[in-house]
Amino acid sequence: MSSKATLDKIPAPARAETKDALGRPLHDLRISLLDQCNFRCPYCMPEAEFHAEYEFLRKQQRLTYEEILRVARVAAGLGVSKIRLTGGEPLLDKSLTDLIAGLAKITEIEDLALTTNGMLLAPMASKLAASGLHRVTISLDSLDEDVFRRMSGGRGDLQKVLAGIEAAERAGLSPIKINVVVQRGVNDHTVMDLLQHFRGSGHVVRLIEFMDVGNRNGWRMEQVVPSRQLLDQVVQRWPLRRVDRNYPGEVARRYEYLDGQGEIGFISSVTEPFCGGCSRARLSADGVLYTCLFATHGTDLRESLRNDADEEELTDILSRIWLQRADRYSELRSPALAEAHMQRKVEMYRIGG
Ligand code: SAM
Ligand code: SF4
Ligand code: SF4
Repeated sequence: MSSKATLDKIPAPARAETKDALGRPLHDLRISLLDQCNFRCPYCMPEAEFHAEYEFLRKQQRLTYEEILRVARVAAGLGVSKIRLTGGEPLLDKSLTDLIAGLAKITEIEDLALTTNGMLLAPMASKLAASGLHRVTISLDSLDEDVFRRMSGGRGDLQKVLAGIEAAERAGLSPIKINVVVQRGVNDHTVMDLLQHFRGSGHVVRLIEFMDVGNRNGWRMEQVVPSRQLLDQVVQRWPLRRVDRNYPGEVARRYEYLDGQGEIGFISSVTEPFCGGCSRARLSADGVLYTCLFATHGTDLRESLRNDADEEELTDILSRIWLQRADRYSELRSPALAEAHMQRKVEMYRIGG
């Protein structure tokens, strides 16, 4: 990522033209609201690392809603039409609906979504919808009680998550997507049951390859189940046909069941990278803007926000960052690059997935 000195050299572009160094537009902003979580999924926040004494961000270190809204408005002016709230676990923030109401007023935002582990969703779903949230993605790695519990670090309650999905449906927070991180030897044997459960429900299950995000989840290539392998398995039971992407840069490869029972998606960041269409920026809870999920560093916006940078200055900063962006970690992924990034990548719970 760019230093201030190099940022200064590049003239800011006209708003609508913001494309990065590889010609990719800025369409999608993911906002991590907080770095805390009520789960300890071993692939994201292993308990041994994120223990009782672990120091998460304090409230004054996190961006305020007003600061988040300022960044969101500027990003919208540069082409962002899609915002996803994430974390950590965003539903731990009980005033969240105030922020959603503010984001929903930004006219350029056509898609306002939230990713959650679903534990706290049931009692909040209708309030989230009333405040202006369009839809939710719920992470649910298995319907096997034991496997699910293990994959949530012993903290998840499967029935609560399922109740959350039902409540989201009743509240109209759809289309609902169900994210499943597939890890070999951990939950891969339960994937077909999960697909069976959601067939015909209208919810879209997305099978995600276990990724080498951050430095603390003990990622090993042997634990990745390539999407191609899962696809072959699914097709043998339920024939599928490929469906076009909803929009350029969509991360999931979409398929429909030939028998009309709905859609599934594959997110294959490891074996079939999709950097070419990547139009996402990520804002961490403490105000650092990252231009790649595997970034080793980002640009601190909090200081500018707290030094009263006006809209024009913020526009300038954001557009310069985007202009210089050349990230394509997944496409370049190699043992040497992984080694170079080792211990320096930002963690998933900070950057938000
Ligand atoms: N706590 C919320 C949740 O779990 O939905 C939102 C934040 S979580 C970091 C966002 C997404 O990242 C989740 O769907 C989660 O499964 C996914 N994720 C976390 N670590 C991952 C990893 N190592 N590989 C692939 N996906 C991962
Ligand atoms: Fe928490 Fe989500 Fe990470 Fe699991 S994946 S530990 S629920 S932030
Ligand atoms: Fe985008 Fe970085 Fe992922 Fe490539 S590796 S798709 S640039 S976030």
